Amino acid sequence: MSEDRSYEVLIIGGGHNGLVASCYLAKAGVKVAILEKNSELGGATVSQKVFPDHEARLSRYAYLVSLLPDKIVSDLELDFVTLSRSVASFTPTNENDVPAGLLITTQPSDTTESDFLALTGGDVEYQKWMNFYADVSRIAKVIAPTMLEPLPTRSELKAQVNHPIWEAIVERPIGEILENHFTSDLVRGIVLTDGLIGTFADAHSLAANKCFIYHLIGNGSGEWKVPLGGMGGLVTKLKSKANALGVEFFTDTEVRSVLPVESGYEIQTSDNRQFRSKYLLANCAPQELARLMDQMPPASLEGSQMKINMLLRKLPRLKSGVDPEKAFAGTFHFDEKYSQLQLAYQQSASGQIPDRIPAEMYCHTLTDSSILSTAMVEAGFHTLTLFAMHTPAALFDQDHDTTKGIITSKLLSQLNGYLLDPIEECLAVAADGSLCIEAKSPLEIEKEIGLPRGNIFHKDLSFPFREDSEPQSWGVETQFPNLFICGAGAIRGGGVSGIPGHNAAAAVLEAEGGARKG
Ligand SMILES: Cc1cc2nc3c(=O)[nH]c(=O)nc-3n(C[C@H](O)[C@H](O)[C@H](O)COP(=O)(O)OP(=O)(O)OC[C@H]3O[C@@H](n4cnc5c(N)ncnc54)[C@H](O)[C@@H]3O)c2cc1C
Repeated sequence: MSEDRSYEVLIIGGGHNGLVASCYLAKAGVKVAILEKNSELGGATVSQKVFPDHEARLSRYAYLVSLLPDKIVSDLELDFVTLSRSVASFTPTNENDVPAGLLITTQPSDTTESDFLALTGGDVEYQKWMNFYADVSRIAKVIAPTMLEPLPTRSELKAQVNHPIWEAIVERPIGEILENHFTSDLVRGIVLTDGLIGTFADAHSLAANKCFIYHLIGNGSGEWKVPLGGMGGLVTKLKSKANALGVEFFTDTEVRSVLPVESGYEIQTSDNRQFRSKYLLANCAPQELARLMDQMPPASLEGSQMKINMLLRKLPRLKSGVDPEKAFAGTFHFDEKYSQLQLAYQQSASGQIPDRIPAEMYCHTLTDSSILSTAMVEAGFHTLTLFAMHTPAALFDQDHDTTKGIITSKLLSQLNGYLLDPIEECLAVAADGSLCIEAKSPLEIEKEIGLPRGNIFHKDLSFPFREDSEPQSWGVETQFPNLFICGAGAIRGGGVSGIPGHNAAAAVLEAEGGARKG
């Protein structure tokens, strides 16, 4: 049986960006509907009860927020709160078999300075660190306010930054400044990780620069914060706002094909329903949109991360003696020295599992325990999320389960190298006796939430500007009229940001002549 439903705007996909776009459009009086293939909205930003025997709702995929502009939260009157972490990062070390570590607090502190001193034998590296990030913040402060505007040009931004850091971070591969400015392998590595989270790249590829920039510019500070109630909290708030504004949702509704017609677009779903709209927004990845329209998909790097979610009975103690409540409160980097990152990239790019897999972790419940039941909080339970780098989808193509098993065991054994209590002894146990740990390869992430080859940004990131010769744009346009990308695959799209959702809605309203801008 077929139905015919007509809307002014249809959105393929109900990730957080589709929801943001729908709210802005509905607020402006536009009739809009979302078609989502899964039964749950949210895409990569869901919280779920991963371990059924325990009352713990984990941010299953994305877990920290930085790029979501405060303006979107206030425009949409979202009661969504993010919390600062007191610790930015901790990196355990084992130099000459002496366990130690570098603790970097979110605000400058004597602890950070003395850890740098102990690690590097002087205060030069600490001063370089402070100066580097002060320079980077010049770029952040110029770019952040442009994210919800049409794309600025390269020259406009460069002129506003007006500092050599532009050349170092935008024009030259980031590996150059890391090698020239810092001397410590470990410090270089901590900086580089922001260029590699979600991007499979060598330090001398500009792909790492792009990723680095997005990790440092959120709201002008680049601070990564904890979503109160977990990442699903954002989706809950967006969904209730969209509901209140009259957005229609069709879940369990997979779009099977998209046909451009004279009046706009005709959409066929897998269960043979038909929808029509004047404007179409794609929250699905651009590769998926191309498939739906029988077009060539854009080329892109593949996803390269393993995500491991854990529920713990207790936090593990560290060999270094550092308080685990500090060590795991921020980002806990392990085996992420610059040389280790580079070697792991070379090995995985040539098809091998890296000897040591660089990874980072963080404990949500040290900042926000509301994702656990009261009884679990009182009993000392915690969650840990682990994000491993340089484990590209191609490694899993041949023998998925074996590769996943090897990589997971390697990561846990590397981690245990820094722990007094092996992680396995700290994991909560399910009713059937199994340990509360789940690992997700890039291919599993593709299967579950549709990220092509597990790429967490849908496709390669782009610099947040247009070239001077390129026409004006919101960074969301496609080759088709009235069809805009409203997801991570847009320019300035990757991550939990709502930015492409806002910008695609702005492009629709602009195309409508701004008559209904609200
Ligand atoms: C493991 C992991 C960790 C991450 N960590 C972070 C983090 O801590 N912080 C951060 O900022 N970012 C993080 N990211 C990246 C971030 O989550 C994503 O870039 C972002 O959530 C993408 O949002 P989106 O709304 O654009 O798309 P998505 O969340 O991908 O949503 C797209 C939606 O479209 C639907 N869809 C696809 N095809 C169809 C179709 N044919 N018909 C109907 N519906 C369809 C999908 O089901 C999905 O719901 C992480 C991602 C992953 C995977």
